[in-house]
Amino acid sequence: MTDIPYKLASVRSRIAAACKAAGRPESSVGLLAVSKTFGAAEVRQAQAAGQRAFGENYLQEALDKQAELTDLPLEWHFIGPVQSNKTRSLAERFDWVHGVERLKIAQRLSDQRPPGLPPLNICVQVNVSGEASKAGCTPAEALELCRAVATLPRLRLRGLMAIPAPAVDSATAAERQAPFRALRELFGELRRAGLELDTISAGMSDDLEDAIAEGSTLVRVGSSIFGSRPPKA
Ligand SMILES: *Cc1c(COP(=O)(O)O)cnc(C)c1O
Repeated sequence: MTDIPYKLASVRSRIAAACKAAGRPESSVGLLAVSKTFGAAEVRQAQAAGQRAFGENYLQEALDKQAELTDLPLEWHFIGPVQSNKTRSLAERFDWVHGVERLKIAQRLSDQRPPGLPPLNICVQVNVSGEASKAGCTPAEALELCRAVATLPRLRLRGLMAIPAPAVDSATAAERQAPFRALRELFGELRRAGLELDTISAGMSDDLEDAIAEGSTLVRVGSSIFGSRPPKA
């Protein structure tokens, strides 16, 4: 017996409260439960409490977990860094890949997506924190990369993903929200340029309220649902 159902309900109420504060409908924000470092048993408990979409960072760990959960109708999102040697498994075993930051990776995912499956959903990762983070394309590169990804036949470009650097304790709400606002503005620019995007993947346990205030449509929440993770060796 664990408190996963209780914590999940509490995260859902945080999302609902943040939507209300932002004047957004609750249905406009989805919840991705980040189960990395936790086992199949924990995923099962969250699923029994109504959760369907799960996020994983480490490929081998994710594949092992998936193999134990084939009886459940789950949606799997890969949210870790994507290296070339992982693309085949990602294309075969996941529904979404969030960390795409180079065209070459997107091309491999498209080439390797099995014909029997629907197109693989993709978010392009953008670095909205400047020097503080290295992952993701720059905002200036995003339009060209997204246009190219959108033409790949076995992918469906859904939107943008970001992992802003954690805010300092003394930050004001406006300072905390600035990277999420930058992401939202970029998303708007890309849509005005004609790209059909519907997803802003941003916000985690510590900053989901700030992300929702600035338009996130998918928050990725781990520790607030499953508990704190052991430090990764
Ligand atoms: C681990 C992780 C999360 C979840 O982080 P929490 O702080 O535990 O909610 C979200 N997104 C990415 C990309 C992660 O690696």
